[in-house]
Amino acid sequence: MAKVLSVDIGGSYIKSALVDEKGKMEAKSRIPTPKDYDGLIAALAGLAAGLPEAPAGITAALPGGYDFEKDEIFAPNLPSINGRHIRADLEKAASLPVMAENDANLAALGEYVFIEQGGIRNMMFVTLGTGAGGGLIINGGLPVSAVTSFEIGHICVAPGGRLCGCGRKGCMDEYCTTAGLMAEYAAAGGGENISEPLELALLAEKGHKAAAAAFKSFAVYLARGLADAANLFCPEKIKLGGGLSELSRFFMADCSENFFAELFPMYRSRVKLEIAGLKNDAGILGGAACFFKGLRP
Ligand SMILES: [Zn+2]
Repeated sequence: MAKVLSVDIGGSYIKSALVDEKGKMEAKSRIPTPKDYDGLIAALAGLAAGLPEAPAGITAALPGGYDFEKDEIFAPNLPSINGRHIRADLEKAASLPVMAENDANLAALGEYVFIEQGGIRNMMFVTLGTGAGGGLIINGGLPVSAVTSFEIGHICVAPGGRLCGCGRKGCMDEYCTTAGLMAEYAAAGGGENISEPLELALLAEKGHKAAAAAFKSFAVYLARGLADAANLFCPEKIKLGGGLSELSRFFMADCSENFFAELFPMYRSRVKLEIAGLKNDAGILGGAACFFKGLRP
């Protein structure tokens, strides 16, 4: 059975595995992301060369946008790869066909193929962590376009709010993230000197008022963004993933209540809001699905 080397390139680490069509993973690895682009390409080619058997190709999940036509990465927060041509460079270095996609789009595809198994047609996947991103499944696949699409993180949930890296104010990427959650805690009066969402959850569990208020505000912003996106196409499911989704019991009830109140009334009985089934390997499995199902050009 053919296998693909699926790599998930993050700002700190590259995760990878050799994956078959059924999603069975082997030779899993995690290495620090080289600081320079040439080092990154050499490391990826080295991963392919070091596998127990030769892969049929490589898929790369990128922490940013990607222009399929120009083979150009858009990752302003990661200057080492921004503007570079990963398909051409990696194909040359590894002598294998290469596909590249945005990491959240691939996570959406992984969730769709391996958890939903094609039982639905339209789905939205949203990752909540350091950033807020997402992927769209429409008519059973990722949307086909010249560039990666579905930048849900840049929907405005707080008009006139904090400035986002994209140049707009009040984006989900500023409010529905780890930093956004901690900012709500400070705005609610703070109190304890904490820096992690998990510490905030422990406080909320003990009934700390500012901690509970932070989760509530977070839920309201998230619900607003999800409703705006869902109102465009009535997805059958919205799946929440990423590190913050593991704290969903602190915000899901409020988020759900606000989300359904803001959703177009006719859609309310049609959309399900739930936590994603795949955890850390969603991007890697999505890369494999992308390669074998040929859902991208
Ligand atoms: Zn933005």
